[in-house]
Amino acid sequence: MKLLHEKIRKDGKVFAGNILKVDSFLNHQIDVKFMEALGEEIARRFSSCGVTKVLTVEASGIALAFPVAQKIGCDMVFAKKSQTKNLGSSVYSTPVESFTHGCVYDIRVAKEYLNEDDVVLIVDDFLANGNAVRGLLDIVKKAGAKPAGVAIAIEKGFQDGGKRLREDGVRLESMAIVESMDATTGEIVFAD
Ligand code: 5GP
Repeated sequence: MKLLHEKIRKDGKVFAGNILKVDSFLNHQIDVKFMEALGEEIARRFSSCGVTKVLTVEASGIALAFPVAQKIGCDMVFAKKSQTKNLGSSVYSTPVESFTHGCVYDIRVAKEYLNEDDVVLIVDDFLANGNAVRGLLDIVKKAGAKPAGVAIAIEKGFQDGGKRLREDGVRLESMAIVESMDATTGEIVFAD
């Protein structure tokens, strides 16, 4: 998606350790108009899938999942990373290895918000090794729901999460695929 390429080139910052920072529009400050445009594009691509729910994981996925759900006209659920008192014990949960924090944590969704009648579109900000998406797919499976596919803002194509998901037959739509990036020069090359 050209618009996202331009935005990443203009505002993205490449850090050592294969980290792309997009705090000015996606991960800290949210460019609401821009998220709306991304959401519209994702909703368009999945418009024939009968999606009944958009699923993401807190916190960074929410800003994109919200406009996607709004455009589709369904509800959005975000998996929680901690067992809060008000979440209750009736949850689907699965462990996820964090790319940015280097630890394993459980993600949880209350059973009342996902069921076997749901067709679920998974949305997230980044795809790196694919652990967050695989965790969300596992939650969908545990709920007996049907996965419609996965939509990602920025896939880091030099990490193998996307490749493995596509090999597994998952429908994956990434709005931008970064082929390479250089922390020294700041250069970013896109695959698409
Ligand atoms: P994965 O589970 O695919 O390895 O990593 C995806 C998750 O890690 C995303 O939910 C995102 O929050 C975080 N992440 C992975 N790579 C990056 C990155 O380069 N920049 C930022 N800001 N987050 C990332």
